[in-house]
Amino acid sequence: MQERLKRLDVILGIHPESPYQVMEKALKRAPKDIISDLIDSGLKGRGGAGFLTGLKWKFAAAAEGDEKFVVCNADEGEPGTFKDREILTIVPKKVLAGMGICAYVIGAKKGYIYLRGEYKYLVPHLEREIAEFHKNCFKLELDFNVEVFLGSGAYVCGEETALLNSMEGFRGEPRNKPPFPTNNGYLGKPTVVNNVETLVSAQVVSRIGVEEFKKLGIQDSHGSKLFSVSGDTPRPGIYDLEFGLSLEEFVREFGDGDTKAVQVGGASGFCVPRKKFQSTTIGFPGGLTGDSLPTGGSMMIFNSSRSMYNVLRNYLDFFEEESCGQCTPCRIGCQQLKVGIEAVKRGDKDPEYLQQLLKLTDTMKITAKCGLGQSVANSFSSIVDNFREEMIY
Ligand code: SF4
Repeated sequence: MQERLKRLDVILGIHPESPYQVMEKALKRAPKDIISDLIDSGLKGRGGAGFLTGLKWKFAAAAEGDEKFVVCNADEGEPGTFKDREILTIVPKKVLAGMGICAYVIGAKKGYIYLRGEYKYLVPHLEREIAEFHKNCFKLELDFNVEVFLGSGAYVCGEETALLNSMEGFRGEPRNKPPFPTNNGYLGKPTVVNNVETLVSAQVVSRIGVEEFKKLGIQDSHGSKLFSVSGDTPRPGIYDLEFGLSLEEFVREFGDGDTKAVQVGGASGFCVPRKKFQSTTIGFPGGLTGDSLPTGGSMMIFNSSRSMYNVLRNYLDFFEEESCGQCTPCRIGCQQLKVGIEAVKRGDKDPEYLQQLLKLTDTMKITAKCGLGQSVANSFSSIVDNFREEMIY
């Protein structure tokens, strides 16, 4: 297991073969072979949802459309996540090469980098890189053009259909799915929306091949992953680690010796208490025995000086603020959860009221329209179940 804690530099490292050489090599292959390699590699989206990247590309390639698009989702807004910013700063060529390969595979001529508004300072840097990328496309006879689209600061626009609405000039509100963007995306045309790191990982599969890629990680969670480590740690930062590491090992490496909980996957992820560190692995469910938690890469470490009530209240503040308000379970549910835990803490409600709030999160999980409202239950139930006393006293 210790091996999985070795910093790998698969994503951020510099390699003998440049990203544009990798792209050139890929462009000589048949699109269907690239898709089948991606599917065999088991690469899953690195934004957190974990959909198979190869399948997404396959659906978009097969979809009918006079125009198709590739969108790089760089609207990195999950609390505690700051890896995409580093990827775009340090290895933008790998992202652009991933977009180029995707464009070739699905037949897109236009691509966008949807950049989080707070990362506006990256625009001149990205535009210089895009200009160089275009020269490479010209040399390789790839008719593909990329632009930066700047977001306006809404967390929900990290959800792919809200992102597409925002690009089309509408309110950043998630759409009903189906139809999925691979058939009906930007301007109603087939569109692949991939996270920044996913595009780099797709490029990694082209560079090192399926077998080498599958040597990293575990069953159902192949490859390496960038983790944004923050909170009560002497070593905050970005780490490129293998999937399949246990939280026990992670905390031994990054904790401050007094870790009581780790929030895996940001505010919309799960809070794991000390007693479950040993039995929890990081990867997509099905990877190993015990709990296996997927993550977009955010790992927030809390030591015993932290009030988990305050942590949860901060998350609920965040969700209440960022809910787009389109559907009632999320718009009202986020408010009621916050008001509810405040009432229990003040003693205005009995501790049993927490059970009713947990039922409310169950309802939100099945009735909220998008991942924002559906995932509030993750942090709420994992904190309330594991730190119940802190919610009351
Ligand atoms: S779940 Fe929340 S963010 Fe998502 S559509 Fe409903 S109100 Fe909007």
